[in-house]
Amino acid sequence: MADTLDYPALLERIAADVAALVGSGTPAEYIPALASVDPHRFGMAVAGLDGTVHGVGDWEVPFSTQSVTKVFALALALAEGGDSLWERVGREPSGNPFNSLVQLEYENGIPRNPFINAGALVVTDRLQSLTGDASSELLGFLREESRNPELSFDAEVAASEQEHGDRNAAVAHFMASYGNIDNPVPALLEHYFWQCSIEMSCADLARAGLFLARHGLRSDGSRLLTRSEAKQINAVMLTCGTYDAAGEFAYRVGLPGKSGVGGGIIAVVPGQCTLAVWSPGLDAQGNSVAGVAALDRFTTLTGLSVF
Ligand code: GLN
Repeated sequence: MADTLDYPALLERIAADVAALVGSGTPAEYIPALASVDPHRFGMAVAGLDGTVHGVGDWEVPFSTQSVTKVFALALALAEGGDSLWERVGREPSGNPFNSLVQLEYENGIPRNPFINAGALVVTDRLQSLTGDASSELLGFLREESRNPELSFDAEVAASEQEHGDRNAAVAHFMASYGNIDNPVPALLEHYFWQCSIEMSCADLARAGLFLARHGLRSDGSRLLTRSEAKQINAVMLTCGTYDAAGEFAYRVGLPGKSGVGGGIIAVVPGQCTLAVWSPGLDAQGNSVAGVAALDRFTTLTGLSVF
């Protein structure tokens, strides 16, 4: 079905359908670089399995990917280190905000899933142990998969994350007290903040996420993940990728998705395509208002979903 879709026309229609929502919600305010982004931005891209990308609006404008990178870090940590990661992080929705500490004490320093901050810190810690340079490894991977060698960290965002990073520092130290962090916490935080600061456009993200639509195959045809691992990551995205709104996201969109507080969301139609959308206004759970609406329109208009 996807082969016969007129993507340019479809994307124009979706952009028109969600135009009234662009600018609603609130851009993230915890660091100046995010607070100062124009809330009226909107872009959306679709990448087909062969890497062809179509887009609408600001689809080629780089933005702060933030927690969208958590899915790529997870894929790399699993690809390089295997299943033992799951002894340190769970696979259940948390039902709590993405930066919450509250479950960690009850659950002995084991975060609920890899897509809340606590879980992502464990994943980055694992990647750091496996590679010796987690953030550079991730950036290199994203450059290759997006076919954009220009991708880079945003040093200003990384510095601001550090400056306003007390909550993430608390989470990391707390898990370290349970023995669930292997590297020195300051070094881990630095890699995590660099990771959050990576700038990409919708076009970059849609292309970079194609290995999840290709059942684990990278852009050069080599295998990053087994088919089963790709399925598992998609499943965790569906259940946990949009934090305490994952149920609502599954209901409305019906696809595995991963959001970030920069206003980006990536979504996967396994075996068909990858979608990326960006609009900075966030809802109360930290997901892009217009972004979720655009993905909702996409699956409603096309019938493409995992259900
Ligand atoms: N930098 C943000 C943080 O660690 C990322 C969170 C997000 O995008 N949800 O709090």
